[in-house]
Amino acid sequence: MERHCDVAIIGGSAAGLAAALQLVRQRRSVVVVDDGTPRNAPVAHMHGYLGSDGAAPSELTGRGREEVRSYGGEILTGRARTVERYDDGRFRVEVGGGHALVARRVLAATGLADELPDIEGLAESWGAM
Ligand SMILES: Cc1cc2nc3c(=O)[nH]c(=O)nc-3n(C[C@H](O)[C@H](O)[C@H](O)COP(=O)(O)OP(=O)(O)OC[C@H]3O[C@@H](n4cnc5c(N)ncnc54)[C@H](O)[C@@H]3O)c2cc1C
Repeated sequence: MERHCDVAIIGGSAAGLAAALQLVRQRRSVVVVDDGTPRNAPVAHMHGYLGSDGAAPSELTGRGREEVRSYGGEILTGRARTVERYDDGRFRVEVGGGHALVARRVLAATGLADELPDIEGLAESWGAM
């Protein structure tokens, strides 16, 4: 299935949803594709984020998703696998599961991956220290 939009956003955590919210408010059609692996996945609560101190990370993104949807933005669950540029300047983003997005712009908000040093016990404690 192919969807057409102004902006395809790869990554639907804090950064991707914040970008989506600005864009949908500016009447751009937006599809966010997210595969549900945010950097802070190991933690149950987040701190120091104004207005959401102590909240579960999923609470923040859940609210963000609702806000984006309330302006007509779409959230697609899946992993963006390839990005290809057409001759007319538009982009095609292949998403797993037979979905594709055709967009005027692509915004990558895919976050960072933490590479922990090989120290015994560290990985198990990550997010709980
Ligand atoms: C252990 C730990 C604890 C933390 N605690 C706090 C805290 O208390 N307070 C705080 O403010 N910050 C905290 N942070 C930092 C916070 O997690 C990051 O600042 C925040 O997650 C960055 O958001 P982001 O949207 O840039 O990236 P991410 O949250 O990492 O989101 C990236 C998103 O992109 C998606 N994605 C990636 N590649 C693809 C793809 N190809 N296709 C589709 N989707 C894709 C992922 O599924 C993910 O949802 C913590 C981080 C860690 C590691």
